[in-house]
Amino acid sequence: MTVKKARRIRNGLMIAGFIIMLLAYVYKPLFYIGAVVMFLCLIPHFLYNKCPHCGKQLGRNEGDFCQHCGKRVDD
Ligand SMILES: [Zn+2]
Repeated sequence: MTVKKARRIRNGLMIAGFIIMLLAYVYKPLFYIGAVVMFLCLIPHFLYNKCPHCGKQLGRNEGDFCQHCGKRVDD
């Protein structure tokens, strides 16, 4: 699992969860399903949004370089 892949999965889950929550206007229980899907996006975020060199959590850093050691995070 690469950082870029993890970010893509996280963003995909976030958007999917958001769309499902909007569909709750049509079918109410979808709100909870959407909330769960959005919550799932935290898993790739915390498990894989880490620097492959120093292993530190990248947090809100969306760039190509680690803010801890300065190396590229996408190789
Ligand atoms: Zn690093």
